Amino acid sequence: MDDSRIKYAEAFKYIAKATNSSLPLTKVLNSIAKNTTKALRAAGCAIMLLSPQKEHLNIIAAHGLSDLYLRKGIVNARKSLPDILDGKVVTIFDISQDEQTQYPEAAETEKIGSIIGAPLLQKGDIIGEVRVYGKEPKHFSKGDADFLTTVANIIAVTLERNNLYQMLTKAERPEKTSRRKKSTETPKPTPQSLRQSIFGHPSEEEFAKLLDFYRLEWLYEPRSFPLAWENGKVTEMFTPDFYLPDLDLYIELTTLKQSLVTEKNRKVRRLQELHPEINIKLLNKNDYLKLLAKYGYRAAGGAKVEGINRVLLSHTQIQRRVQALAEQISRDYAGRQLVLIGVLKGVICFMSDLMQHISLPLAIDFMAITSYGSGTESAVKITKDLDTDIANLHVLMVEDIVDTGMTLNYILGHLSSFKPATLRVCTLLDKRIRRLADVPLDYIGFEIPDEFVVGYGLDYHGEYRNLPFIGGLEPKLIEEEQLK
Ligand code: 5GP
Repeated sequence: MDDSRIKYAEAFKYIAKATNSSLPLTKVLNSIAKNTTKALRAAGCAIMLLSPQKEHLNIIAAHGLSDLYLRKGIVNARKSLPDILDGKVVTIFDISQDEQTQYPEAAETEKIGSIIGAPLLQKGDIIGEVRVYGKEPKHFSKGDADFLTTVANIIAVTLERNNLYQMLTKAERPEKTSRRKKSTETPKPTPQSLRQSIFGHPSEEEFAKLLDFYRLEWLYEPRSFPLAWENGKVTEMFTPDFYLPDLDLYIELTTLKQSLVTEKNRKVRRLQELHPEINIKLLNKNDYLKLLAKYGYRAAGGAKVEGINRVLLSHTQIQRRVQALAEQISRDYAGRQLVLIGVLKGVICFMSDLMQHISLPLAIDFMAITSYGSGTESAVKITKDLDTDIANLHVLMVEDIVDTGMTLNYILGHLSSFKPATLRVCTLLDKRIRRLADVPLDYIGFEIPDEFVVGYGLDYHGEYRNLPFIGGLEPKLIEEEQLK
């Protein structure tokens, strides 16, 4: 057996022992990182999980690297070694000559020469990465890549097992279940629940859960800021608890204990002196509930948004998708006279955001309708017709949601009678499973399950339209006829 194989075998011996021990998850992962580093004679190793929107990487365990390097900044999964997201093992022979590293200066200070990274896969889905950092420029061998792939598989299984364990122990504690929660669906392990074992304090976990509820992206301690130096060496550092990419905001949580508040305040002030470009807030629980409320997440008073049982699509998810739709529409309609037509009132938020991102001259018009009955029995009456003559124009019907498709079917029939040059449909939400009328949808924001949703223009008895996200309503609030 050559020397490398002996090293891999030795590492697996300790990795297997740690994985099968009763140690807490973070200790098991740190041990895997340590033995992986040793086997590859490297400087260090980091195990990272992807954020829910698969944009950022959160470090959950590491070995051999300084805190300053580990927390060098937000690791963007699409900028830093992006091929790992395609499921590949990526090697960088010499960091100083490569453009795939996001923080080359930090790597130089840490004296890191090379990197090998492998994806963490759970049933074909990429949930994170394991990266090993070489001391100097190095050609990693096929054996190294195979070794790291196996380590990545062991990590993925360890995380899944831990998650199943958490779910099982939770299941033993019976909770009040609502009608909808009684579904036979098996809950899927989520990266969020895996991440909950990484927090230093219960208040951090509580805050993260609230952010998860609103589907606000968060990173835990992604960056350390040096605050003081002596003879060129860092003597004081500050690692804020959270970073919220959607708000570009760092958050340090604090309790009401005055001595801690004073010390943390000093650090926050010093950080702002050194980095005026950084947004940071020191928050206690009341403050963060108020902050969420300020951004439209009506969490003031500790309650979740009244009547909302879950957030399906966050504000950021909606904004990203609307922008992508608008870009596609701008390309498709270049050089044509475009008219957007919406049906009041549910479409107002979508129409407003969509048209602002379309980079073409366009006109808009609205219709209003009332509908009676339900399903195939439903009848639609127009209460406000178009102001524009759409003959020979390129009409794009903008819809908030297509459910049975009966309303849209009627409206498309009505609009065709005006002989537009073309007539297409763009809907933000598609509840395809409920479709009765076969209506063609040309642009679709999101396909959603059979669930009554509100927010971002959509109402329930005139309420909830101004929520910045789309959420599901507590089933008990929905009348029987709407569940049919
Ligand atoms: P359809 O004719 O396709 O069944 O229904 C379309 C209309 O029903 C939508 O324009 C919307 O007004 C309403 N609708 C359908 N599903 C939902 C929902 O989940 N939430 C809300 N607020 N309205 C819905």
